Amino acid sequence: MVRAKKNELKVAEKFDKKALVALLSLDKEEDMATLFARAYAAKTQCIGNSVYLRGLIEFSNICTKNCYYCGIRCANKNVIRYELTDKEVTKAVDFAWKNRYGSVVLQSGEQQSARFAQRITTLLRSIKQHTHNELGITLSCGEQSVETYKEWFEAGAHRYLLRIETSGKDLYRKIHPDDLLHSFEKRMEAICNLQKIGYQTGTGVMIGLPFQTVDDLADDLLFFKKINVDMVGMGPYLEHHETPLYAHCQSLLPLSVRFELTLKMIAALRLLMPDINIAATTALQVIDPMGREKAVQAGANIIMPNMTTVEVRSQYQIYENKPGIYDDAEISKSKLEANLQQAGIEIGYNKWGDSKHFKGNSP
Ligand code: SF4
Repeated sequence: MVRAKKNELKVAEKFDKKALVALLSLDKEEDMATLFARAYAAKTQCIGNSVYLRGLIEFSNICTKNCYYCGIRCANKNVIRYELTDKEVTKAVDFAWKNRYGSVVLQSGEQQSARFAQRITTLLRSIKQHTHNELGITLSCGEQSVETYKEWFEAGAHRYLLRIETSGKDLYRKIHPDDLLHSFEKRMEAICNLQKIGYQTGTGVMIGLPFQTVDDLADDLLFFKKINVDMVGMGPYLEHHETPLYAHCQSLLPLSVRFELTLKMIAALRLLMPDINIAATTALQVIDPMGREKAVQAGANIIMPNMTTVEVRSQYQIYENKPGIYDDAEISKSKLEANLQQAGIEIGYNKWGDSKHFKGNSP
């Protein structure tokens, strides 16, 4: 095992796979604490210590895909499908705007119909107009055609999240059906198209998947750097009993180990790519109530409080035991602010909090 004493952590440009594997393999409390402190210092030095908020609106749980790990995959007939009304979206947007969140994220399952594309375009225009362009908008609505991505960009979305879930083709194949709808190559092409169009582009992976090794995770980090991503959202893999991947739950790492591994991934990525945006994902909060705050202290700088109306929130469970499904936006906000304050973390209110790494449309 490689010990990471204070001055042993290398500068970002010199990280290679061996060094990353060593960081991800740290298992002594003091070594991990050193890693997290160095990552936090790198973040503060490069992009400041503020955390930016994105009000998350889970717009629709209707999805045409069947990813093996996902609780809202289309084959799961136990899910009650919904699409929020304009009024419900506006209510969530208003909450984020009035509470100075700076940005919202519109997230949904994947639908590629013309009706869906048009509905998102209309919503984007109306959010921009309604908030006098004060709110930044991130989209997370899956793979779409270049035309649709362009249309949404022109309608006001300027950031897009499209998680690859793993950068390893073999592992990707094990966690998705083997068909054209779930193609690794198409996913990669979509990420590249987003970059070319000019979106600040984000991707991400799950940590602690069945069959996944520390080597795979080090490759994921190098992949983010190679494709020159602007934003990353990574969370621990959390099993859902209504999914095919649940059959492998006996082989999983304990939750506490998946949690630590996620924090190490965040910290290592911050050292590797100091100026990108890194999300402290809600999945961390499932394992530890202070999970997101701990992620911020390990180098993350984005938190996405849930603004989705409580009536449907329980129907958007990619993983089980999603936290705060009965908390309305007001309660989520008060809890988050109190936790951040307790952890001494400053919130960048009223700011879009764009990725400093973003240099325009150059993949
Ligand atoms: S992960 Fe996304 S694309 Fe895959 S089934 Fe779930 S919602 Fe659909």
